[in-house]
Amino acid sequence: MADVLTPPQRFRCMSSIRSRDTGPELLLHHLIRSAGYRRFDVNDPTLPGTPDVVFPRRRKVIFVHGCFWHRHTCKAGRSAPSTRRLFWARKLRANKERDRRCISELRRGGWEVLVVWQCQLEKRRSATASKIVAFLSQRRRSSRPLTLPCSGHT
Ligand SMILES: [Zn+2]
Repeated sequence: MADVLTPPQRFRCMSSIRSRDTGPELLLHHLIRSAGYRRFDVNDPTLPGTPDVVFPRRRKVIFVHGCFWHRHTCKAGRSAPSTRRLFWARKLRANKERDRRCISELRRGGWEVLVVWQCQLEKRRSATASKIVAFLSQRRRSSRPLTLPCSGHT
């Protein structure tokens, strides 16, 4: 196969692949395992939005969203690059719309969805861990919907 990537391009590709499995995702896996949940799948591409964590038998999924890319209501999620404003505005809006579509598709398919934001994982870890445990231990079809505060998906 022809090698069409220059070294800097290849580095970017590799780093973007590697970033799929670092930082917030590993932190999320760690929180879930610490809470005693050991059986889950990661990054299921057959489900809308490729949820980061999937509990097939409980029919629950958890996304961990980077605040900037997924437009959280926090400071990082409201920031925007100062160059190519239109490009970024469109791209980031498209991300948010895609998230909304994926989540409603999952819910229509009978999945319960929890979105955990990067800043919540980093700055409010024990509160976030409690929310995750509540979400996972909650019986299905509860009348009380469970959402994280300021989830941005209202
Ligand atoms: Zn945030």
